Amino acid sequence: MKCVSCGKDVKDYVEFKCLKCGEYKIIRCDSCRVLGRKYTCPKCGFAWP
Ligand SMILES: [Zn+2]
Ligand SMILES: [Zn+2]
Repeated sequence: MKCVSCGKDVKDYVEFKCLKCGEYKIIRCDSCRVLGRKYTCPKCGFAWP
C-alpha cells in the first residue's frame, strides 16, 4: 500500500474512504498522520489540511 501523502510503501497506516467522492480508499501512513501532512484524493482531487 502506498501513502497518498508521501507516496511511500507503508506497513503501518490508516485507511478510509475519501470524504468527498466516497470512492477512493485513502491510505495514510503513521508518520504523515502524526505530522499532519496534507493529503489529496487522486480520484476527485479534493485535499484536506
Ligand atoms: Zn506518508
Ligand atoms: Zn475523492
